[in-house]
Amino acid sequence: MKEYIVKVMEISDVTHNVKKLHLEKPEAYSFKPGQATDVAINKEGWKDKKRPFTFTNLPDDEILELTIKIYDSHNSVTKAIGGMKKGDELILNEPWGTISYRGEGVFIAGGSGITPFISILRDLDRKDEIKDTMLIFANNTSKDIIMEDELADILGKDRFINILAEEKTEKYHHGLISKEFLEKEVGDFNRVFYLCGPPPMMKAVQEQLNELGVDKNAIVKEEF
Ligand SMILES: Cc1cc2nc3c(=O)[nH]c(=O)nc-3n(C[C@H](O)[C@H](O)[C@H](O)COP(=O)(O)OP(=O)(O)OC[C@H]3O[C@@H](n4cnc5c(N)ncnc54)[C@H](O)[C@@H]3O)c2cc1C
Repeated sequence: MKEYIVKVMEISDVTHNVKKLHLEKPEAYSFKPGQATDVAINKEGWKDKKRPFTFTNLPDDEILELTIKIYDSHNSVTKAIGGMKKGDELILNEPWGTISYRGEGVFIAGGSGITPFISILRDLDRKDEIKDTMLIFANNTSKDIIMEDELADILGKDRFINILAEEKTEKYHHGLISKEFLEKEVGDFNRVFYLCGPPPMMKAVQEQLNELGVDKNAIVKEEF
């Protein structure tokens, strides 16, 4: 497996526990919106600890961008990445991943499961192909919503639906995604559904979509 050593050019906060990294792009490195790669820190003791992360920028940008939720547990790779500085190095592999765009539809993301959709939505926006694309974004609280302003700009207020499990406010829906919630917000189920998030959410939403008549083949998914 080919490996690329890349330098961190910039690291900044996206939310209280999500960081954005801009990386040097190796020559001729290319990926499709939605794809990820295996990443390790180029430092003794970390080189074999590979974790998958998704590119959130556009393929023809001059840099690579990763958007990473930091888990604060002992020895987690994301915690070590969160502590990296400009000039530190990562090891990347070739891009891979099951999420790719198959046409206009409904994107459903939980937490950092938004990452494969960021590049896809930025790409659609750039090509002026957002049309009726809808995003349902599930988080615990409003401070967990990744890139809220940019997503609202891309999709418009009516097609960007946020639901929060642990916070009740006027501005967002409250609770977990349910069949009734999907029925009310989505209406038309004869569309492509894109699903990415933690395993319990993925399992629940797939069952709900199946009950609402969505064919398994119409669901493009990746478990985080
Ligand atoms: C194809 C693919 C692409 C991905 N892209 C991204 C991305 O762009 N950005 C991003 O932030 N993440 C992404 N992930 C998830 C990411 O790979 C994991 O969060 C990461 O591997 C955690 O590694 P760690 O060593 O920090 O945590 P570990 O040491 O493995 O775990 C630390 C703690 O966090 C918990 N934990 C770890 N991962 C998750 C999770 N996903 N959900 C809930 N709890 C978890 C564990 O239970 C544990 O308690 C992607 C996953 C896949 C499969």
